[in-house]
Parts: sequence; structure tokens; C-alpha cells
Amino acid sequence: MRSFMTYNTHMDMSVSIGELARLKKKHACGGDIFRVTYVGADIKARCEKCGAIVMLERAAFVRSRTNTKIADAAQRGET
Ligand SMILES: [Zn+2]
Repeated sequence: MRSFMTYNTHMDMSVSIGELARLKKKHACGGDIFRVTYVGADIKARCEKCGAIVMLERAAFVRSRTNTKIADAAQRGET
């Protein structure tokens, strides 16, 4: 009885492959920037710090996302 179309939310549920997102939930390695590599019922995203792939429910991903439009240029600058 669940449908993605019935979410009563004003959050932007759209997720794009290739998008960089900062998540409130940090990865085990301490990184919090992830690049989306797969979008379906679940989201797969690669930790930009260690390269590990994590899988999240789309709703969980969207809830945890704090900044959907991180400039790629900012991420390219090695820290
Ligand atoms: Zn990591």
C-alpha cells in the first residue's frame, strides 16, 4: 500500500545519478560527501573519501541530505 507518489512531504525527493550530497549521517571513515551512482527504490552512493559504496532507502537518503547542490569544483580541490 506504499507508493512513492503519496509521500506527504515538501522535501525534494528527486535524486540524480552523479549528484554529490552531504549526508548528516557520516560514513564509517568520517567522510560525509557521497556521489550517487544508482537510483532506484534504493540509492547507491559512493563515499568520496574512501570510495566505499553505501545503499540507502531513497527516503532515508533524502532525509539525511543536507546540501544537494555541492559544487563539483569545491570537491575537486584536494584537502
Ligand atoms: Zn568512507
